[in-house]
Order: sequence, then C-alpha cells, then structure tokens
Amino acid sequence: MSEKVEEKTTTDDTLKSTLSLIKQSVEELEMSNDVYEYLRVPNRFVEAAVPVEMDDGSINVFTSYRSQHNNVLGPFKGGIRFHPDSTADEVKALSMWMTLKCSLVGTPFGGGKGAVVCDPRKMSIREKERVSRGYVRAMGSVLGPETDIPAPDVYTDAQVMAWMADEYATMMREPNFGVVTGKPIAVGGCVGREEATSRGCVYIAKEAARTLDIPIKGARVAVQGAGNVGGFAALLMEEEGCKIVGISDSRGGIYDPAGLSIKDVMAHKKSTGSLEGISGVKEITNQELLALDCDILIPAAMENQITGKNAADVKARIVVEGANGPTTPEGDQILKENDILVVPDVMANSGGVTVSYFEWVQNNYGFSWDFATVDKHLREKMVEAFNNVYGFYCERCIGSDMRTGAYMYAIKKLAEAMQYRGWLRNGIYT
Ligand code: NAD
Repeated sequence: MSEKVEEKTTTDDTLKSTLSLIKQSVEELEMSNDVYEYLRVPNRFVEAAVPVEMDDGSINVFTSYRSQHNNVLGPFKGGIRFHPDSTADEVKALSMWMTLKCSLVGTPFGGGKGAVVCDPRKMSIREKERVSRGYVRAMGSVLGPETDIPAPDVYTDAQVMAWMADEYATMMREPNFGVVTGKPIAVGGCVGREEATSRGCVYIAKEAARTLDIPIKGARVAVQGAGNVGGFAALLMEEEGCKIVGISDSRGGIYDPAGLSIKDVMAHKKSTGSLEGISGVKEITNQELLALDCDILIPAAMENQITGKNAADVKARIVVEGANGPTTPEGDQILKENDILVVPDVMANSGGVTVSYFEWVQNNYGFSWDFATVDKHLREKMVEAFNNVYGFYCERCIGSDMRTGAYMYAIKKLAEAMQYRGWLRNGIYT
C-alpha cells in the first residue's frame, strides 16, 4: 500500500475557507475577536532554501516551509510533505487543521506543518535522503522534541523520518529521536503507527454508526482511495464485519453489491499496482464510487472530492472523512440539506497524530508499549473525542453541521488555554 497521491491535494481556496470557518466558529461561540486574531495567522512561518546536490552533480535549490500555527496547548506537531505543488498557503491551512485536531483529541500539541516543494517521484533514493537531511539543516533551529515535532505526510514516510532524526541528532549532538514521529520501530517508532489513522477512522465510524442506530456488522461501506488510509480502513472495516461494496484508487474503482474480499483486492493491488483485472467485480469511476448505495462512505484519497456538483448523488448516511479536506464548503451544504452525517477530517483522521503522540511519550520515557496498549489508548481517545464532539454538536449546533461543531469544540478548548496562559487580557467572551 505504498502508492502515493498523484495530484495536488489542496487548492488556493483551502486557507480562505479554513479561516472563514474559524471566524464563523469564534462568532457563534460569542468569543472575543482576540481569539480569532491568535488563530488567524501562524505564530511563526519559516521559508528556507534547501540546496541539494543531485546525482548528476548539479545543484537544485528547493523552497521549503514550516508553519508553526499555534502552541497554546504544547509543542508544534505536524507532517512534512514533499510535493511539487505545495504552497505557503497550503502549509498554513494544514497547520491550522493540526491545531484544531490536537485540541479536539486532547493531545498536548499545537499545530504545525511543513513542505519541501519538490517531486520525489523524479528523485533517486539518495537524492530524497539529501532533501530530507537538507530540510533539517535548514529548519533545525526551529525544530526540537519540546518545540516542534514533524511526522510523515504526502510522499514522506518512516525512512524519511529516520534520516531526519539522524540529521537532527548529528546537528544537535543529541540523539533524541523524539524530534520526529512516524519513525521505523528500530529507531524509536511506535507499533501500529502505520495503520493508526485508519484504525482511528474505524473507531470513529463505529461510534457514528452507533449514534444513528446502524449495525456495524453488515453495514455497507464504500472507500475512496486504496492507499495508506483507505486500504487499511477497508481491511479493518471488513474485519469489523462490514460489507465493503466499493473501493477505488486514482485510476478508478471496483464494485460488488455482495461485498468485496478486501484482503484479496489489496493483495492484487500490491502485486499489480492497480485495482484493474479483478474478476467478478464491476469496474466503476471515482464519481460512481462516491454515489454508491451504501451506509458509510469513507473518502480517503485527496481534497475536494465531494463538491457542489456531485454531493447530491451521495447516498451514504454517514461520511467519515479519512482524507484531509475531501468535501468542499458547497458539498458540505448539500450533504447537510440531505441529512447526511459528515464526520469531519479534523476528527475522523486524528488517529495518526494520536499515535504519534504515543510515540513521542514512549521516546521521552525511553520505554516501548506493546500493540495492545497502543490500541487500547487509541480506541479510548477516539471514542472519547467523538462523543465529546458529537455531544457538543447536538447541544450547540442544531441546524449546523458536525464540522462547525468540531471547530467550535476545538476552539473553545484553545481559548480556555489562552485565557489561563494570560493571552486574553479582555477575557474569552464578548
Ligand atoms: P496515499 O498516497 O497512501 O494514498 C492515496 C490513495 O488515493 C491512493 O490509492 C491513490 O491512488 C488514491 N487517489 C489519488 N487520487 C485519487 C482520485 N482522484 N480518486 C480516487 N483515488 C485517488 O495517501 P494516504 O497517506 O492514504 O493519505 C490519503 C489522505 O489522508 C490525504 O488527504 C492525507 O493528507 C490524509 N491523511 C493521511 C494520514 C496518514 O497517516 N497517512 C493522516 C491524516 C490524514
């Protein structure tokens, strides 16, 4: 399951719509505009050049970013992506989502995000290593296990994190691998980190189904994306007794109303790199996948998939956003009008950062948990976070949607911390 997102994952509107929802949430909470002022811009935004010697001896100077959005709850935390289309605004928006995610799920971190504007698909492994090490040399002074802790994101993985941890250890003469998470187990990684986002998604999907009285055993599920998040989510939902009626990747999807054997499907994808050529299933487009007759839809591929143009076709009763930003504001509005429960990304895919937090805790302790301990803590965190947010949404956001509820719940916790830390001299509320 190593195939990676092929297209740009955010649009220039992402930052605008994120800011607009944060502002709306602050207003609905009747909070002082000071709260919005703190959340409107990153605490610090660094742009740095990463000069890299390529294998042919030429030098490429890549642009890189680190956005440290807000650390009222603790050190900044968030992934680093290597992507040719990454922009400063994209990185800022993603760091804001991290602030909200950490607040929602109760991890003592602030939001951060980083990127190197490069195309790793066109690089050799040694070039990719030099980019990884170059990023740490460029940004090392603003990173640290108590300051800002990166993790993998699009086109970066455990190996990239290991190079980054090694470079940081060399630079600082301090082998504290807690400076990054998502590392290989051999250098302080956490068991279960690879599938943590999907596992979190599944715990959240189960809670969402329970609240709508949909039995999870036999629930019909469609998954967009067969990568890290989607592939594992489909496998785990199958283990829960769900019927996975459809799954797709960037080239299209497959459908079987009787339920696919996801183990076989993923084995086929692993060996051929594609979902094509599986017998006994119907091949469908990604648009058809989103419109399948099912109980739970998990968009787990990329941004802006459910839009004003196709949201009316969605038949699922619950949408669990495994991907970041898969639904546009126009899509959201239509899903709300059609009474479809959307569990927003900041909640639904927070399992990854939660297990990253567990990894950081273990690194600080110098002690490793077993899988059962990691899984127990993850399940507890996810179930608690869902029920806190769902309860808040039912109480405070009637007529609105769970995304607004999640933003409001997260901002309420952030504002309380700001108040206690003395950042809000005029109080939280207007
Ligand atoms: P990945 O690269 O492993 O998988 C992405 C999958 O989406 C691939 O199967 C790809 O073929 C498919 N895809 C790409 N374009 C598509 C399209 N137009 N239609 C359908 N499928 C398409 O990536 P991932 O790590 O699984 O991340 C997926 C999403 O989840 C991203 O939005 C990412 O930001 C988000 N996310 C990931 C994690 C994590 O821990 N990996 C954590 C939080 C959020």
